[in-house]
Amino acid sequence: MHFDALVIGAGFAGLYQLHCLRDRLGLRVRVLEAGGDIGGTWYWNRYPGARCDSESHAYRYFFSRELNDEWQSSERYPGPPEIRAYLNHVAAKFDLRRDIRFGARVTAAHFEDAANRWRIETESGEKCSATYLVTAVGCLSAANVPAIEGLSDFGGKWYHTGEWPHEGVDLAGKRVGQIGTGSTGIQAAPVIAQSAAHLTVFQRTANYSVPARNAPLTPEFNRWVRENYDEIRETTRQTPNGHAFRISRRNVADVTPEERQAIYEAAWETGGLQFRATFRDLLIDKAANDTAADFLKARIRAIVKDPATAEALADINHPYSTKRPPIDTDYFETFNRPNVSLVDLRAEPIERITPKGIRTSNREIELDVIVFATGFDAMTGPLLKMDIRGRAGRALRDAWKAGPETYLGLQVPDFPNLFTVTGPGSPSVLTNMPVAIEQHVEWITDCIGHLRSHGIETIEASPEAARAWGAHVDEAANATLMTHAKHSWYYGANVPGKPRVFMPYAGGLQRYRKICEDIAARGYEGFVMDRGRTATVALTAGDFAGAAASPSPGV
Ligand code: NAP
Repeated sequence: MHFDALVIGAGFAGLYQLHCLRDRLGLRVRVLEAGGDIGGTWYWNRYPGARCDSESHAYRYFFSRELNDEWQSSERYPGPPEIRAYLNHVAAKFDLRRDIRFGARVTAAHFEDAANRWRIETESGEKCSATYLVTAVGCLSAANVPAIEGLSDFGGKWYHTGEWPHEGVDLAGKRVGQIGTGSTGIQAAPVIAQSAAHLTVFQRTANYSVPARNAPLTPEFNRWVRENYDEIRETTRQTPNGHAFRISRRNVADVTPEERQAIYEAAWETGGLQFRATFRDLLIDKAANDTAADFLKARIRAIVKDPATAEALADINHPYSTKRPPIDTDYFETFNRPNVSLVDLRAEPIERITPKGIRTSNREIELDVIVFATGFDAMTGPLLKMDIRGRAGRALRDAWKAGPETYLGLQVPDFPNLFTVTGPGSPSVLTNMPVAIEQHVEWITDCIGHLRSHGIETIEASPEAARAWGAHVDEAANATLMTHAKHSWYYGANVPGKPRVFMPYAGGLQRYRKICEDIAARGYEGFVMDRGRTATVALTAGDFAGAAASPSPGV
């Protein structure tokens, strides 16, 4: 069957892309979704303690005031069931389900030069084609289970948090080992500890965390959200990270040490990702960052009673927020429970998994369940899992051998009419995702609308523009302290053999939006239409100047 557009994925991105292409442009669209229902990341991530770190009033679509008015969140941070309920509401309101095929995992997408179309194949052998192909596969959807020797011999059960069984896992009375202390592990450990007989947390890298301070939302707050839709929406569009809070304009050095302490204490009490918004220079000045890092380490030492455990948890070797900063509910407090212990893998690395548990260089720890909170093959992983081939059969895997090459994170040279929502090279994971998603989906919709109204058959990024953009993505990252955490998944460092390239765009979502708008207004500068029929302009990183980094690490 042939469609105007195929969209891969039915999470926040795929649902809105379907609505835009079908209902605004009038295209024939099909969404192919690997999961059994809508939800994307929230369909798969059902691990204990899973919850969004963005606040409910910002973690939503902003394209429809009516939709905003209809939806009431129950808590400051939405949990997966509430997010799925929200997306179900969206799907029902815009009648989206009829164009979504579930259980359809795309394995291959090949561009046919002669016919100017994409041929798509799913795992079950279903085939279809489309003029435009939009990937809405998420940035964190390819689970990373580290290749630790012996896993296949393990006599207990093991799970990755990103592929958690939908029926749940009964951990009552079990000896659980959790590997990983990123945002996921920090959310999961306190909840696992409540039911497990014993929880052993295996920590390779110590991490900062700020209390989330989740709480039920009052009717007054929900009324405020309805009545201040324009202002909230505007804030998410004007801030570098797409959240509904603004980053302070003051620098750390603008205040006295006492004032600074009071600011950090107040932010700690408020809780959430806003902690990093306390000063504007936290992500660009190491000395400024040290003040936040010292404050947070002191908190860990004050909370955790066992001095050795406290020291291992506070021994953090990267500046605050240079890896994605977690927020938590009782994470550090959990280590005061008698049924929880920490294994510091820097002191005693894992040697192998045994039939009975995990053996470190010092001892064997017996376990019934291993929880891998070990993250994802981020950003490129979900795309490279599929066999995507562009012009002349060129494989995306080959094109990206040395790291992802994109123009604006939206298109790849030699892959015509392929659009990557929140692709590498875009702000994506450094932002509150739905806001970045809306911006991409609307840009792609406008672009396809432009092609159709001008009788243009193909659009693709020019190699020069992609190179210039790549240089600018590097430049933006280098202007921040994020280069101090080269072992983060932002650099692909968590997956052995993956090229070490800083993948998201750290120049700020508001600035990025402006760049994308300007490029479209200049006739899609840097893109090649119908293979050269429309002239392209050669770009250099300097063309994005003025876009010097405005650091924005976030969700
Ligand atoms: P992550 O940040 O990549 O953390 C993975 C953890 O596993 C790290 O502590 C890592 O240690 C450890 N690890 C990986 N391989 C290991 C190995 N072989 N041996 C020992 N430890 C190993 O993954 P994540 O926590 O799933 O979070 C990924 C991203 O998802 C977050 O950064 C965030 O963007 C998103 N997320 C969002 C939310 C939310 O908004 N609600 C919640 C959870 C996650 P090293 O640091 O040493 O590599």
